[in-house]
Amino acid sequence: MAAPHAIRIVGDPVLRQRAEEVTEIDDRLVRLARDMFETMYEAPGIGLAAPQVGVQKRFFVYDLEHGDGQQVLVNPTIVESDGEWEFYEGCLSVPGLHFDIVRPRRIHVKGLDLDGNEVEFEADDLLGRLIQHELDHLDGILLLERLDDDQRKEARAAVRRLQLERSAPEDPPAPRRSFFRLS
Ligand SMILES: [Zn+2]
Repeated sequence: MAAPHAIRIVGDPVLRQRAEEVTEIDDRLVRLARDMFETMYEAPGIGLAAPQVGVQKRFFVYDLEHGDGQQVLVNPTIVESDGEWEFYEGCLSVPGLHFDIVRPRRIHVKGLDLDGNEVEFEADDLLGRLIQHELDHLDGILLLERLDDDQRKEARAAVRRLQLERSAPEDPPAPRRSFFRLS
């Protein structure tokens, strides 16, 4: 089955804009979140932010394999962070590329769940990493902007290749076969 949304790829301007606060959690948003889970599983990935499906709203969905199941975080903010952790990070909007990126290991997050309840919790390791990555998407930041100078040079070439691949035309159509061959 095809995913409900196409995931936007690096180069798409929607990935570079700051998303707007969610002011109302209505049926449309709930439906969109549900569709985003489907799109995320199909990819497959463990997190997906609204701008990645072209929606400029501050929320993201995630589901860690050994976590608490499907989670949605609306209008999230990081109120505190500490430690340092290097992790080989990837992004569905930069397919096929991974980079060692240093970010804080632990964060303290606040936001809303999909019912509009305030939530507040500590997150570390993979969950902490995921939330920081998705929150970056809400601010129009891709992991490419978290690289050091050497990595950035390498990344630029890799991203160019990726974009070329993506824009390459499909295989040329097969030549038409004639149905009859006259002797
Ligand atoms: Zn990403």
